Amino acid sequence: MHHVQQLINGQFVKSNTDEWIDITDPATQEVIAKVPQTTDDEINQAVAAAQTAFQTWRKTPITTRARIFLKYQALIRDHMDELAEILTAEQGKTIADARGDVFRGLEVVEHAAGIANLQIGDFVENVASGVDTYSIWQPLGVCAGITPFNFPAMIPLWMFPMAIATGNTFILKPSEQDPMVTMRLVELAIEAGVPEGVLNVVHGGKATVDAICDHPDIKAVSFVGSTAVGKHVYERASRSGKRAQCMMGAKNHAVILPDANKEQTLNQLAGAAFGAAGQRCMALSVVVLVGAAGEWIDDIKAKATGLIVSAGKNDKDLGPLISPAAKARVEHLIGTGVEEGASLILDGRGITVAGYEKGNFVGPTIFDNVTSDMQIYQQEIFGPVLCIMRAGSLDEAIEILNANPHGNGTAIFTQSGAAAHKFQQDILVGQIGINLPIPVPLPMFSFSGSRASKLGDLGPYGKQAVQFYTQTKTVTARWFDDEASRGVNTTISI
Ligand code: NAD
Repeated sequence: MHHVQQLINGQFVKSNTDEWIDITDPATQEVIAKVPQTTDDEINQAVAAAQTAFQTWRKTPITTRARIFLKYQALIRDHMDELAEILTAEQGKTIADARGDVFRGLEVVEHAAGIANLQIGDFVENVASGVDTYSIWQPLGVCAGITPFNFPAMIPLWMFPMAIATGNTFILKPSEQDPMVTMRLVELAIEAGVPEGVLNVVHGGKATVDAICDHPDIKAVSFVGSTAVGKHVYERASRSGKRAQCMMGAKNHAVILPDANKEQTLNQLAGAAFGAAGQRCMALSVVVLVGAAGEWIDDIKAKATGLIVSAGKNDKDLGPLISPAAKARVEHLIGTGVEEGASLILDGRGITVAGYEKGNFVGPTIFDNVTSDMQIYQQEIFGPVLCIMRAGSLDEAIEILNANPHGNGTAIFTQSGAAAHKFQQDILVGQIGINLPIPVPLPMFSFSGSRASKLGDLGPYGKQAVQFYTQTKTVTARWFDDEASRGVNTTISI
């Protein structure tokens, strides 16, 4: 049996713990590896290594740091097929989608390779006579990242490349449900030249997360995961004086106007609602049909019915949910929808996939006539379940969306520029797609989920991550150009 290793001070080591968590193939339940609950002692060793490494890493030339990521991006490209295969085996998503998971992380690595263009401070000459002020963005120290199961490649790559490129050292805590592709990415980072102690990996669940939040030598925590855990991390890390950012749960609505291009809209909606079995924080899990678009129900159902559910490695349309517990939770929520009076027009419960009878499969599921008081609307289902609502006008649709507390993503489908512009202006959601279902920005921007989907001001990659992982220092300098002295200045003026 493969035992997932930890990375402490440049060494891949097996934990001394006697607590091991099974990693299972979600399509078969076969245990494919075990991951440790890292001990407190090992966490302390990892932080101490990172603390020591920081003393030299923070002074390593920014160009040297950047070059490591140039090499890293090439290594990730070379290993794309292997990475996607590992990811699919432990996470369940299709191979094509696993490649997308790696690729969206790779984009951040490429961005980190240009760090010298991003970590540029400001300079103002002559703020007073002969006085200049400049700002420098210095790394914070040891930073940490805690990641969810649904993007085990992309989300770790949102975090450690930007943190390390800006001069910090890092403790990564991957999801205990699928840490193997993350570890392969970490091995490649070491191969690319990340020095010992600069990147460390510890494993486990709540105990490790709490230890990270409490550790006095960790300066910042980046978290991506569910809302309940994110709130806990934000409060606990903030209480011990850390900078924290938490990207959390969502309930993303699509709004479809009757003038939208029907075929393209329905294809995009089906992909974003049911792709990755709905286990994306940017999945479109609610659609608001405006006016005559309300007649497209049968077409939506036809698109969903046409999708093929299978083991991820067979590379069909959607794979299994991550665990039997996730499947039971999704099926329970579907049951509440029926009890609370929504119309179940497509039921994905109880499906079997030939050859994978033990897999955690739920097929595409659609509820019509959903109202905002129902549990299927109020909770993030995180499964292939689409809730349909209706609105008489765009204004009414905007009201529905803005009444929902979440702010991760939304999409409008229309041919009207005026309607799209109104939507973009009035909607209280941080990431908006216009005829584009999953508007996750590339890293020249930052991930910008908002309201209940986020705690902390700054996003996890892009320009905002440079700010998150650095401390601004301003220097005000006077260079005397003559011998003239105006005597003692007892005022605040320079
Ligand atoms: P999760 O919150 O269960 O786990 C996230 C991390 O927290 C894991 O590393 C896990 O080990 C740890 N953890 C779990 N329970 C904990 C506890 N009680 N105390 C402390 N730590 C704990 O999330 P998940 O199920 O792995 O991921 C799915 C969730 O992540 C969804 O809600 C999804 O919307 C969200 N997500 C959000 C974004 C975003 O950018 N907003 C992106 C991806 C996923």
